[in-house]
Amino acid sequence: MGLAQEASRGLQDGSDHRMLSLTEHPHRRFNPLTGEWVLVSPHRMERPWQGQVEEVAAEVKPQYHPECYLCPGNARAGGVRNPQYTSTFVFDNDFAALLPHTSHQSRNERDLLIAQGELGICEVVCLSPRHDLTLAQMSQDEIKHVIDIWAERWQQLGAQDFIRYVQIFENRGAMMGASNPHPHCQIWATANIPNEPLKEQQQLLAYSQKHSSCLLCDYAALEISQHTRMVIENDGFVAVVPFWAVWPFEILLISKAHIADLAALDGDGRLELASALRQLTGIYDRVFDAPFPHTMGFHQRPTDGERHLESHLHAHFYPPLLRSATVRKFMVGFEMLGTPQRDLTPESAAERLRTLAHRGHS
Ligand SMILES: [Zn+2]
Ligand SMILES: [Zn+2]
Ligand SMILES: [Zn+2]
Repeated sequence: MGLAQEASRGLQDGSDHRMLSLTEHPHRRFNPLTGEWVLVSPHRMERPWQGQVEEVAAEVKPQYHPECYLCPGNARAGGVRNPQYTSTFVFDNDFAALLPHTSHQSRNERDLLIAQGELGICEVVCLSPRHDLTLAQMSQDEIKHVIDIWAERWQQLGAQDFIRYVQIFENRGAMMGASNPHPHCQIWATANIPNEPLKEQQQLLAYSQKHSSCLLCDYAALEISQHTRMVIENDGFVAVVPFWAVWPFEILLISKAHIADLAALDGDGRLELASALRQLTGIYDRVFDAPFPHTMGFHQRPTDGERHLESHLHAHFYPPLLRSATVRKFMVGFEMLGTPQRDLTPESAAERLRTLAHRGHS
């Protein structure tokens, strides 16, 4: 049976010719950044937000914790003592997943057992000397200083001959595997471009060749004109729940200007990014009136010596929470074996986040 026959048989089996409704019909959405699909089942959650919102008692953290290995002046697990740092502090990860001096040789047995030595550098960035703060509670100027450090580390690590990609990311909350509540992020610089940015670079390049324009510039403009998936916007950045979001409250933060990396952001641009980061993390904490766990990270130009005119600076926020501060979304079953799936539509999630943008802490 040919594909056409299969399709017509499908029609007899109950499908119809009605226009696809993104709020009614199960459908899949294409992620042009990765070339992958996500399944959306809006009929399973097509209702206003009625879920019980559980209050989670805010844990009162001290400004300094004598046993925290990231607090100023304390000894780290490897025995090194942190300086009495007063703003942002960067050090080499004591338990680095990657090492700069190791074999870079490859092995290949019958095209089945393939391995390659991977060189890299892992750094930790303490965002603040204060043990009790998060980005949401830091001032715009303090966050701008963090961005200055990120830009500088991106440049310096990327300038090393063997480093082709610099990934900056933050895991927040024990649910995301953060091993320490002290506000910190990580930088992993690698000899090869990791899977996710590699897929995105290929898609960005293919789009720019096909349309003679930039995928993310076009996408940001489209989202601004449609507004339904917008969360916040300022002069430099726009944040949306992307059309193809997998995680319930996923956010894509896009630079409005076509720039490829943090180092290309001028002072005003960095302040706008700081403001967006502060606002978004604040909104997240208000979704369930509790600290909102998530992984956040930037995708920037690879540092492999090519120009990469297709690269466009953006950040992804992947939070796992679904219905309350204690109910998370699990990627299991069909999602592991087939395609990721979501019930809450990106449009509903964006609407909820947008409402919270205009509300202070209750
Ligand atoms: Zn600490
Ligand atoms: Zn662009
Ligand atoms: Zn990306």
